[in-house]
Formats: sequence, structure tokens, C-alpha cells
Amino acid sequence: MFDPTRAAGLQRLASFAPHAGRTYANGRNYDRGTAPQAVSGLSPYLRHRLISEVEVLRAVLAHHSPPDALSFVQEVFWRGYFKGWLQQHPSVWTQYQAGLLSAYQDLPVDYIAAVSGQTGIACFDHWSAQLRDTGYLHNHARMWFASIWIFTLRLPWELGADFFLRNLVDADPASNTLSWRWVGGLHTRGKHYLATAENIARFTNGYFDPKGQLNENAAPLVDQADHGLVPLPKAPDHAPDRALWLITEEDCLAPPKGVTPAGVLGIISPEASEFAQNAVRATALAAGGQTYLGHDWSNAIRRAARQIGTQQVACSYLPAGPMAEGFATTQRRLAASDIAVTQVIRPYDAMVWPHATKGFFKLKKQIPGFLERLTA
Ligand SMILES: Cc1cc2nc3c(=O)[nH]c(=O)nc-3n(C[C@H](O)[C@H](O)[C@H](O)COP(=O)(O)OP(=O)(O)OC[C@H]3O[C@@H](n4cnc5c(N)ncnc54)[C@H](O)[C@@H]3O)c2cc1C
Repeated sequence: MFDPTRAAGLQRLASFAPHAGRTYANGRNYDRGTAPQAVSGLSPYLRHRLISEVEVLRAVLAHHSPPDALSFVQEVFWRGYFKGWLQQHPSVWTQYQAGLLSAYQDLPVDYIAAVSGQTGIACFDHWSAQLRDTGYLHNHARMWFASIWIFTLRLPWELGADFFLRNLVDADPASNTLSWRWVGGLHTRGKHYLATAENIARFTNGYFDPKGQLNENAAPLVDQADHGLVPLPKAPDHAPDRALWLITEEDCLAPPKGVTPAGVLGIISPEASEFAQNAVRATALAAGGQTYLGHDWSNAIRRAARQIGTQQVACSYLPAGPMAEGFATTQRRLAASDIAVTQVIRPYDAMVWPHATKGFFKLKKQIPGFLERLTA
């Protein structure tokens, strides 16, 4: 379904942009199965930054006024909101990892039926198979699926989030973890999302109708932990000249303006999706660089830096998640051999993340100002 190249992302954006106004707003909640959808399908490209939020917003606003495109524009900002929020509440990620580990140690009996699509709830089983087969689910299907997982099947949300993270082509630690928590009622405390048979029947145009099969009256999940806010890192917006630039699954875009690297290297973790691995490979190849697959990238980086005669390495800022965790060891090892790594923050992230401290509403109020800055 998705070709992991920037060219494919730009092509998808060009065909979608004219439909990002009313057509999107009126149709975005419908999951039409194999029929053409109103949604963009841009998430794998945005997730791995084969294309940027700025490019997407500008392309859409070239066709529509901000009020007409508001529904779509807001969705794009949800992505940055979740990224900024998780960055400032890192204990949510560590608590999720711990919860996942204990859930796997005490695997509930219904888990296998859920991930193999054999629960007997036809819509759920269909989405389970669709996720495994295609790596993509419509947003509404993700909401219904997560809700049924948590409230009808009574499975730990962490296992469901992990099932998504291992199978989604746009698998994103922030959007995924926080969306699962949002459905469960943990992100906006006490407010959960309950899937109903009537809503599923309506927005699948009657294709599914799980009447009588869902728990439509469950109470929200409760989290006793207090996830305090950790200030954002003071990441620079530039890097030393002639550094080695790293392409990662977090960011396949060209270096930001003002950063002029002497060479590039793609670094890939074996856990990254096939789409992400191929996106990094294609990007590095196009920039004349090589790629290295592994968990500790320090030797490959040292070698590539030596080849171009530099002790400086730079990459786009690695947001909270497995890549940032894994890279921390590499960065320490490089520091021990006097190789400095600069993680450069993109201007878009520097603009959006500081507003992702509470609920989305706070950030939403900034959108008109953001758009003025981006289209000036
Ligand atoms: C339980 C659950 C898990 C999710 N896991 C992920 C994930 O791992 N990775 C991921 O990218 N999205 C995730 N989402 C958000 C959303 O479902 C997808 O971004 C969206 O369905 C992607 O399809 P699209 O590009 O056609 O979206 P469109 O409707 O065309 O939206 C355009 C873009 O806006 C962003 N966006 C849209 N909806 C959301 C949203 N609710 N939250 C954050 N960003 C959004 C995406 O970047 C998307 O590409 C999850 C949602 C839920 C309910």
C-alpha cells in the first residue's frame, strides 16, 4: 500500500491536497473498507518524516482557506501535540514499558484470540487481520479496536498498544501510546472512548453491526501514578559545519537549513518496521550514503566519520521512544572516543512542542498563529 520513498509521499500529498477541505471534514469518520477513503494515508510518510508537517500544511492551504481545511489541519497538529506531550511526560513511556513487561509475563487467555482475529466479534476480528496483513487501520477503526480490546475483551491496554506498534506501518511511540491511553481514559483522566454498535454500524455504512456484543457501559481505566512535567531539552537548531549527518527512522528529511554535512549515514534498528527500514535505506542511498543495521551504531558511525575526516556527528532530535533509548548508548560510546553528537531540533517541533503541556485544546488555540508563521 505504501512505497517507502519521499517521491511516493509527495505524490500522495499532491493527489490528496485538493480534497483536504469539506470532502475530508465530511468523510473522515467513515471507514469505507476497500472503497476509496476520505483520509489522506499520509501517516507513514509523516511518521518517518519522508515529508514534513510543514510541507503537508502548505500544500493543503494552497487549495483551501484555513477555516475550510481546519478539520484536517487540526489532525496534523495532533501528531505534534502527542510528540511534544510525551517528550515532557517521559514517565508515561517508562511506565508503559514496565506495564507491558508484566502483562507479557502474565498473558491473559484471550490475548491470542485477539491478535489472531478469533474473538467472534466480526468487526474486531476483521481489523485484527487487516492490521496484520496491511499495517494500516483507519483512525476510527483504531479507536473502535482499542476500545473493544480494553472494555469488552478486558485485555491490558499495554498489550494492545504493543500489537499496534509491532504492526502499524506508521507505528509511532507518542501517537500510539497516548491514543491508547486516551481511549482508556488515562490521557484525559476519567474521559474514555466507548465504542458502540450503533456508531460502528453508522460509520462503516452498515458493513458491521456488533449489536449486543460490546460492553457499552464500562468505567474508564484509572492510573494512580502522577506523571510530572519534565522541561523540554534545550536542543540547538543548528549543527557544526561538515558533520556526519545521520538519517534515522525518526527523520528522513534533508538536514535543516544552515546545516551542511560532509556525509550521511543511515542507522536502522532491527525492530523498525520494514517500511521504516526501507525509508532510511532509500534516503541514505539517494544522498550517496550507506546504512548500518544494528543496536549499537557507534563503530559504524566512527568509521563513516573517519572517512570524511570529522569528529562531529549530527542528526535530527530523537523524540522519546525506542530509537532515542537505543541511541543513548551509542552517543555515550562516541563521546568516549571524542566524537560529539548534536541533536538538532526542527523549527516546527520547536514551535509546537512547548504548547503540548496539557490537553490538546491549549495547543489548538495556537493553530491560527502557527499557520501564519508557516505560510508567511
Ligand atoms: C489507538 C490508536 C493508535 C494510533 N496509533 C498511531 C500510530 O502509531 N502512529 C500514527 O501516526 N498515528 C496513530 N494514531 C492516530 C491516527 O489514527 C493515524 O495517524 C491516522 O489514522 C493515520 O491515517 P491518515 O494519514 O490517513 O490520517 P488523516 O486523517 O489523513 O490525518 C492526517 C495526518 O494527521 C495526523 N493524525 C491524524 N489523526 C491523528 C490522531 N488521532 N493522532 C495523531 N495524529 C493524527 C497523522 O499524521 C495523519 O497522517 C492512532 C490512533 C488511535 C486511536
